Amino acid sequence: MAHSLEQNKFHLHYQPQVDIKTGALLGVETLIRWHHPRLGLISPAEFIPIAEQTGLIVPMGYWVLQQSCLQYQRWLSQGIPPFKLSVNLSLRQLQETNLISEIKNIVSQTKINCQQITLEVTESLMLCEPGETIHHLNQLNDMGIQIAIDDFGVGYSSLSYLKDLPLQTLKIDKSFLDDLLTREKNQVILQTIIELGHRLGLKIIAEGVESSEQLAVLKSMDCDYGQGYLFSRPLTDQDATALFRTSSFLDSRPLATV
Ligand code: C2E
Ligand code: CA
Ligand code: CA
Repeated sequence: MAHSLEQNKFHLHYQPQVDIKTGALLGVETLIRWHHPRLGLISPAEFIPIAEQTGLIVPMGYWVLQQSCLQYQRWLSQGIPPFKLSVNLSLRQLQETNLISEIKNIVSQTKINCQQITLEVTESLMLCEPGETIHHLNQLNDMGIQIAIDDFGVGYSSLSYLKDLPLQTLKIDKSFLDDLLTREKNQVILQTIIELGHRLGLKIIAEGVESSEQLAVLKSMDCDYGQGYLFSRPLTDQDATALFRTSSFLDSRPLATV
């Protein structure tokens, strides 16, 4: 795997995040892909846990951030208006003592505007040493970088961390959207999470939106943003460029109908 990282066998896909009310594009989340020379395309669900165990996730995570920022700047230089760039940050990275200097290096090298970056961290971050974690998140916020809690609702059982962390966004895990239409209890939980998030001043993104029926429910619950196959699968940089040129946030046409 380390060899593949050196040899550029990894590449990035970008999945749109959409404003549920207007259909306009909020931004994209970067998702890593691995083309193994012999085994073909390997899912991140398979290799990320191994990269976490071996520690390779640390250089890999910085590579993803750096390449995403470079691509983002290419998009701006092609006349595409600014949008939000979300990148996953692993817990291993968050625990690195030189996290902030690494990220500052990437920012100054790529000259990206930090206000456009969101880092997504899973809620199991509270299992790490909270003092250091919060310190790192505060430093990222001070730079202008926003923080989203990923896979919200599945990992960590205490909600009290929500008041202690400098967060801007909750990403509701896809599992709450599965069975949304058939299980009333899922609707109650979803509505409650959205209200809780809003009362804490957070924006809410629903993950794994696959049907227009789910979208209608999310809209009725005042959910802010959605991400999922209904809007778009993760795209190559060329396909994302084509989408940016035709869609929505340039002229506010709903992305789903373009
Ligand atoms: P995640 O961060 O929760 O990313 C969302 C995953 O859901 C992506 O899977 C995406 O392709 C998938 N997805 C999006 N919309 C839908 C939908 O409507 N239906 C279904 N069934 N799936 C949908 P992917 O790309 O396979 O990534 C899996 C996980 O691997 C990610 O989950 C994330 O935890 C991790 N990952 C991916 N790239 C990176 C990275 O650069 N760094 C780190 N640390 N983790 C990464
Ligand atoms: Ca994510
Ligand atoms: Ca997720």
